[in-house]
Amino acid sequence: MKDVLIIGAGPAGLSAAIYVQRAGKSAMCLEALTVGGQIVNTPEIQNYPGIKKTSGFEFSMALFEQATELGAEIVYEKAVKIEDSPSENGKPIYKVTTQSGKEFEARAVIIATGAKNRHLGIAREEELLGKGISYCATCDGAFFKGKDVAVNGGGNTALEDALFLSNYCNKVYIIHRRDQFRGEPKNLEALKDKENIEYVLDSTVEELKGDKALEAVVVKNKLTQETKEIPVSGLFIAIGQEPDNNDFSSVAELDDKGYIISDESCTLSGNGIFVAGDCRTKKVRQLTTAASDGAVAALAACEYIA
Ligand code: NAP
Repeated sequence: MKDVLIIGAGPAGLSAAIYVQRAGKSAMCLEALTVGGQIVNTPEIQNYPGIKKTSGFEFSMALFEQATELGAEIVYEKAVKIEDSPSENGKPIYKVTTQSGKEFEARAVIIATGAKNRHLGIAREEELLGKGISYCATCDGAFFKGKDVAVNGGGNTALEDALFLSNYCNKVYIIHRRDQFRGEPKNLEALKDKENIEYVLDSTVEELKGDKALEAVVVKNKLTQETKEIPVSGLFIAIGQEPDNNDFSSVAELDDKGYIISDESCTLSGNGIFVAGDCRTKKVRQLTTAASDGAVAALAACEYIA
């Protein structure tokens, strides 16, 4: 029995674990994939207060070490169900079941599941995954050394991916559905110095071509309705994230996009379940706000247990 079971070991979950342990309670994180969550794939972090520059991987490892050195346990299991049962003091005991059928009990639970990469939802996207289609430039970029590739998206991830890939690849196309970018001006400024980047704006990816691996993408210009084929051997899809909370809809209310409805208090309706990070309704989803949520949810959970 742990005091607090944390679902997810990304920046929100690990920050929560640090705060729980430092409050003298025991924390266990259940992580379905890798510690660090999505930030592990970010080549460079330059906007975390107090750290001028680091990589997502280094940052994740530092968080992991900090949490585990304080005594937090990390278990690599995907949580799929949260149930409660009455206990002697009137507060429920929470049972979390994992995909492999293991069960863990705790006095409080923090859901910190983050978000997963959004897919384009076009034909052959899944079939060509690992054969030209990627959602992670830092993981797969090196396979495309000297080749022509495209990045789809207009947020910070897409801009940073393009910047990163421009160092390895012959040519990088940035395909974006509008002519304005959501990503920071600083990233756009950095792209100006790159001669091997070409913008394909107001355009969407309509078709993926290639026999055994990706050979070209067909894009459609929304304004002219014209389509054109761009020969590329890689397409890095960076069109944002979606939450993955459906397994918890019986204990947490979800909005129409699947985010857990909560506010800055990170609480749900007064019970022992809390929520932290990108998986909840919020306006700003950043590393700093995820870490902040982790602290808020952890302290709320510790207060609830007390
Ligand atoms: P994002 O900011 O949500 O941007 C997603 C982009 O994909 C948008 O440009 C959006 O277009 C486009 N898009 C969404 N759905 C699409 C679809 N179905 N088809 C085509 N295009 C689509 O996502 P993100 O870039 O992954 O960033 C997520 C969060 O992490 C943001 O808050 C970001 O600032 C942060 N982040 C920060 C850093 C950093 O600080 N170093 C690095 C990476 C990410 P529209 O613009 O038209 O909506």
